[in-house]
Amino acid sequence: MSLSTEQSFSVTPIGFIESPFKEKFAIPRQPRLASAALGTITLVAPFNHPDTVRDLEQFSHIWIIFRFDQTADLGWKPLVRPPRLGGNRKTGVFSTRSTFRPNSIGMSAVKLERVVISGNQATIEVSGLDLLDGTPVLDIKPYIPYSDAIEANGGFAEAAPEITMTIEFSEQALIFIQQQQQYPALQQLVEQVLAQDPRPAYKRQSDQIQHYGVRLYDFDVQWQVINNITLVTGINTLVSKSNT
Ligand code: SAH
Repeated sequence: MSLSTEQSFSVTPIGFIESPFKEKFAIPRQPRLASAALGTITLVAPFNHPDTVRDLEQFSHIWIIFRFDQTADLGWKPLVRPPRLGGNRKTGVFSTRSTFRPNSIGMSAVKLERVVISGNQATIEVSGLDLLDGTPVLDIKPYIPYSDAIEANGGFAEAAPEITMTIEFSEQALIFIQQQQQYPALQQLVEQVLAQDPRPAYKRQSDQIQHYGVRLYDFDVQWQVINNITLVTGINTLVSKSNT
């Protein structure tokens, strides 16, 4: 038996994330780039007992350790092309936060908004997510500033990506945002997500009008980009299978 098989072990999700992001496209590349990205971690039995989160609210931030479940089957390679290097320069997988990695484990430090106990069920509300809806959570730990907040070199990812886009909304999009009442931070979320300029690197130079769409919550958000102006042309409710 090879060493790696001998030492392999399995893990069980302690919970699952509910997130506004229903597809990989346009998800911010790291946590806290979109503060309006609110989510909930629903713990599952036997980890959902309120005892497991006793005193967690003392901490303003938590680490979420999770599985990149949607890319796990695609395997990994020693070299990857991170978007931060323009998408065409290769670097070592362990020098990146790529989703394509051995063991498919991710980590995100997010803001802890609230711990909610309802009967015997504990759920954790967070903001600043960079995770897909349904992501399996493997562990949660408090963020401990004296140890975790290091004055450090950020290599090729020294600063947050520069924001170069101006975001504008069509009248239809603004009216839609005002009329829906479920998500008070919807406009902020759309702005913060699109400000990250989710276009593939090779499209950024183009001066043609480019059309894009993404699903956030149950909404189809459509936008177009010309030069550095992003115009949200329309937002509509998607008809999901659950309500047809
Ligand atoms: N902060 C994490 C994630 C960085 S990569 C870490 O450093 O480990 C962030 C990207 O992961 C997002 O842009 C999204 O495209 C992707 N992603 C989020 N949830 C995912 C999931 N469940 N499966 C696969 N990819 C996911």
